[in-house]
Amino acid sequence: MDPRQQFCPNMACPARGKIGENNIVVHSPKEARYQCKICRKTFAATTGTPFYRLHRRQELMVLVATLIAHGCPLQAIVVAFQLDERTVMDWQKRAGKHAQRVHEHLMQQPRDLEHVQADEIRVKGQGKVVWLAMAIMVSTRLWLGGVVARKRDEHLILSLMQMIRQGALARPLLICVDGFIAYVQAVQQVFRSPLPSRKRGRPWLISWPDIHIGQVVKRYEGKRVVDVTRRMARGCLETALALIRSSQGGTKLNTAFIERLNATFRSRLAVLVRRSRALIRDPQTLEPLMYLMGCVYNFCTEHKSLRLKLWVGKPWLPLGAANTSYRRWSYRSYLEC
Ligand SMILES: [Zn+2]
Repeated sequence: MDPRQQFCPNMACPARGKIGENNIVVHSPKEARYQCKICRKTFAATTGTPFYRLHRRQELMVLVATLIAHGCPLQAIVVAFQLDERTVMDWQKRAGKHAQRVHEHLMQQPRDLEHVQADEIRVKGQGKVVWLAMAIMVSTRLWLGGVVARKRDEHLILSLMQMIRQGALARPLLICVDGFIAYVQAVQQVFRSPLPSRKRGRPWLISWPDIHIGQVVKRYEGKRVVDVTRRMARGCLETALALIRSSQGGTKLNTAFIERLNATFRSRLAVLVRRSRALIRDPQTLEPLMYLMGCVYNFCTEHKSLRLKLWVGKPWLPLGAANTSYRRWSYRSYLEC
């Protein structure tokens, strides 16, 4: 137990959330509890993690979360570990919610995204269809997040664009998408900054000048692609191609990187597999699952395609390449943080 790495979680305490203030001491090594010297409250070492008030071994939960993030069906886990189905569902939800908090915390820092690709996945549920829209930063393969909705409409795309905007610096940016018209409108609405003025009321919003939208529209006959149209929906092609080259994202407008990510998600999440029998029952369970999978992809998986871009000795992680953390996280360490 290391009290120097802990902070007081008591919302009424003046030292809450501060690390390195020397106000935390070990209260009970046997029960794994700390105490804050300022508010005198004690708290469990597992406060704020999915392990809080867990009645089973923590290793078992880490194992279950790892299996879920690699597409193991829930029923297989229930049978293999002789757990109750509700327990596994609860752990999945806890781990997913925690992954979401970790993701949101680390994505707060804006980055020069250069080239982003976005797409939507159709997820078949029991008696309904759910849509999952996601985005990826091409140069580092960083998964930027995703949105779940019942319909593929402008609200879904708007939420996704707001997510990208939160993590973007006002630098030249290319967004490559499919032919869905809602992207153009959403980008125009979201990528704006308030113009400071001394007047009262809502300030003017100025559009970011260097935002480019490339569309890749595929025409299918049956299941085969027979024609691909690449066009600019906003901005200029020359800058877009320069951004593609500098992000090492190919030679022309494409959505190959997000399609590859979609394929990874589809293969690793049992509910996203096409023609699966493990159909999703409750759409609300999809979001925690998506974050669980996304965090494993960003922090715990090494990507061979990043190998050449990073210098020797650094792990080939999306987040490492995006300059936040260079160590590869174990499944346990990201559930613990
Ligand atoms: Zn306190």
